[in-house]
Formats: sequence, C-alpha cells, structure tokens
Amino acid sequence: MRIGLPRALIFYYYYPLWKSFFENLGMDVVVSDVTSKELIEKGIKVTVPEICVPIKIFNGHVINLLSKNVDYVFIPRFVSIDRGEWFCPKFIGLPDLVKYTIEEAKERILTIDIKGKREDTCNWRNYRPLCNILHVSEKQLKKALKNASEYWHQFRQYSMEGFTIEEAMQICDNKLTRNQILSQRSSEITIGLLGYVYNIYDPFVSMDIIPKMRSMGVNIITFEMLKEEEMSRQLPRKSKNIYWTFSKKIHQSARVFMKERNVDGLIHVTAFGCGPDSIVGKMIELDSDVYQKPFMTIRVDEHTGESHLITRVEAFVDMIKRKKYSEKRGEIA
Ligand code: SF4
Repeated sequence: MRIGLPRALIFYYYYPLWKSFFENLGMDVVVSDVTSKELIEKGIKVTVPEICVPIKIFNGHVINLLSKNVDYVFIPRFVSIDRGEWFCPKFIGLPDLVKYTIEEAKERILTIDIKGKREDTCNWRNYRPLCNILHVSEKQLKKALKNASEYWHQFRQYSMEGFTIEEAMQICDNKLTRNQILSQRSSEITIGLLGYVYNIYDPFVSMDIIPKMRSMGVNIITFEMLKEEEMSRQLPRKSKNIYWTFSKKIHQSARVFMKERNVDGLIHVTAFGCGPDSIVGKMIELDSDVYQKPFMTIRVDEHTGESHLITRVEAFVDMIKRKKYSEKRGEIA
C-alpha cells in the first residue's frame, strides 16, 4: 500500500517517526515534492482565501500526492501532546478541512486523533484505528510504533545537539556524520531563528533562510535545538500559559535566546494570517525591549519576494556584526 505524506506543516518535526512507522508495517512511503510556486498556486486555488499560508501550502501538497497515485494521504488530527495544551485549531480540524476542500481527497484521507501526553505521539491507542484499514494486527502496530519512537527520539537527540532538522535526518540515515557537518560551519555571530518548523524549514516559504544566513557567517539556533527542561524553566509559574503547544515552544525558546549572552539577535519568521503568532510575536517583541536584544520579524505570504527577505536579513546581520565589533573595540559600553 502506498501512503502519502504531505511535505508541509508538522511533517518537518515528525517525518522520521511516520516514515519509520509505515515502513515497519510494510507500506511504501511517498513524500510530496518540495514546495514550488506551482504547488502553492494549486493549494491557493482550492483554499478559502482568509486562512493562513501554511494551510494553503498543505493543500497544495495533498493535491501533489494525489497525482502520485497514493492509496492514502496521512493527515493526523493533532489535538494535544501535553497536559493542558492544544494544537492550533487549524491542526485540530485539518482532516476535515482537506476533506471539504479537495473533493478527490475525500476517500483517501488516512486519519487518527493524536491525543495524550507524549510528544512522540506513540501511544498505540492513538494509532489503533489504522489496524483495520492497513490490515495489520495490534501486535504489528505496537512493534512498529516502538521502533518508530526509538528512531524519532534519536533524531530529536541530534536536533538537540544543535543540528538542523535536515542535518539530523541525514545523520539518522547515515548519509552524513556529525563531523562532516560541523567541519563546514564557521560563524561570527549567533542568531536565534524563531518560527514554526514549516515556516523556517520549508525552503520555498523561508527562501532558504538557514543556508543563506550561514553563508553570511551566522550560527543559527532554533527552538527544537533546545531541551524541554531548558525551555520550561523560562516562564514564571504564575504567568498565564500559552496553551498552543508549538507557540509556547517558540515563546519559551525566545526567552532562552534573550537571556543567552552568546545569542546576538533574534529573527521571527511568521506566516501571514497566523492567529497564535499575532499574540506570541507581540510577546517576543515586548521581551526584546526588556532584554535589549536586537529583534526582527519577517512575515511571509504567498507573494513574498526573495530579494525583499534577503535584503532585510542582510541589513539585520550587518547591523549586529557592526554592534559586536564596536563592543569588542570598547566603543559601546
Ligand atoms: S499556528 Fe499559525 S501558521 Fe500554524 S496552522 Fe495555526 S494559524 Fe496557521
């Protein structure tokens, strides 16, 4: 059976888990093409205009997979992976949203509800409804989940060592070693790059921001490179919690970066039409005043031009480098 995985949204966090899980069950995993202008346009065409850009892109990826003759497109309904926290409503309604947007997808959506307190989502009860559809036993399902969970934790471990998601995947698949990756890095300044994985790791959406910043001599850190304990220490116990899981991670990591002396500045990449980011982005902006850290927001939409983004990033990086050298020379106290 051919299972399609849209290369969009939370794919950038859970792909190793899903790949391992389905392959352990003997399925062929088919991933949609890398995001392109044509793919986005197909998504925009079928999606309500007022929704956030990542959802339009997601629909483009579903359409792309349907053209690859997959039996099913896997679209889990992410509800909660931690106590008292939920996913953004668009994630909770995603399978329905696709079902009523793309007529041809209706009968080919493979969905389950992800609920519980495990970030690896691997509580077998979440996945049990797949047994009948994929014709596998509960025993096979549990074994596949166990292997997938181990593989995913290994991938997360590499991320927490400071490797980007792509690098962590390459190390997991033995395509590159840690040393090979590290030997190519050199950096003059460090920038905390904030944003959901689907905004900063989709090369079309972010316009390859990570390689571009690295070529400017910037060391990048992102939220998924931090340990959970380090992030959760950031918000005072009595402060009001952000209850969208990944928005909270972005906010907490921003606090870590603000306090960290080695981080020279922060960039927040956000998508046009994102509700949670309209709150979280403001909170980070206020924190940047308190901690006196250079901070910039880049808002991307389906029409954002590459030159516009790069000019802003270059100016920001340049400003931080000048500030750093002036500090070193004692010109700024
Ligand atoms: S968190 Fe924001 S960008 Fe992500 S799906 Fe929700 S509204 Fe869209």
